[in-house]
Amino acid sequence: MRIFEGLHLVGSGQFGISHANDCHVYLVDCGGEVCLVDAGVGLDNERLLRNIGDAGYDPSSIGHVLVTHAHSDHAGGCKGLAEATAAELVCSESEAKLMGEGSDEELGLILAKHSGCYPEDYVYPHFTPTGIAADGDTLRIGDVEVTCLVLPGHSIASVCYLFDGLAGRRVLFSGDTVLFRGLIGMLNCPGSDINAYRESIFRLAEVEIDALMPGHLVFVREGGMEHVQMAKEALSGVYMPRCMGQP
Ligand SMILES: [Zn+2]
Repeated sequence: MRIFEGLHLVGSGQFGISHANDCHVYLVDCGGEVCLVDAGVGLDNERLLRNIGDAGYDPSSIGHVLVTHAHSDHAGGCKGLAEATAAELVCSESEAKLMGEGSDEELGLILAKHSGCYPEDYVYPHFTPTGIAADGDTLRIGDVEVTCLVLPGHSIASVCYLFDGLAGRRVLFSGDTVLFRGLIGMLNCPGSDINAYRESIFRLAEVEIDALMPGHLVFVREGGMEHVQMAKEALSGVYMPRCMGQP
């Protein structure tokens, strides 16, 4: 699914284009190099690879997979993608450690299974990324500069990736940190922390963006800052804001 020039949605359970447990998986053509943001759950990597082909790209041409965090729906596909492509996988150090050797409890998988988010027999495909993104690091991918923002809150060290100059826009891939209309991904789960979350969102509210590409639900091609400001407003009061997964 083409979002705008150079940006495609190649995986998403919610949009019915790949496995039901997949988060949104984005393919970004940075001119001279193609990368993915997030990897899906790993239960049907073949379909993800077919979708990449249908968008006009050879999976072997993918240079990087930028992972927002270690949760199964975002990172479960990493092992399979690393085998099927020559891509370097990138995530923050703490999330990379969880991906490599986190227990089901540390990964939030026991609670997520209890909530019916994954099949009972789902086994996390552990894989350790070799690319470590520290806060403020920049990556040059093709013609585009990507800034890594390590923003704990949803998980221990979630990363948002800011692409500057994608079809003339500043595009934030926000994972589960901030979603449409300021929804946040605070969980009853190891690694989720409301105080860290507040600091992260206040920080993110200072970053200029045009498009907001979250890991779930609706994405917006312009006016992304409005949604981050809504999250800031939701975290400015004393009561717990509305969170992902709540009715
Ligand atoms: Zn998550």
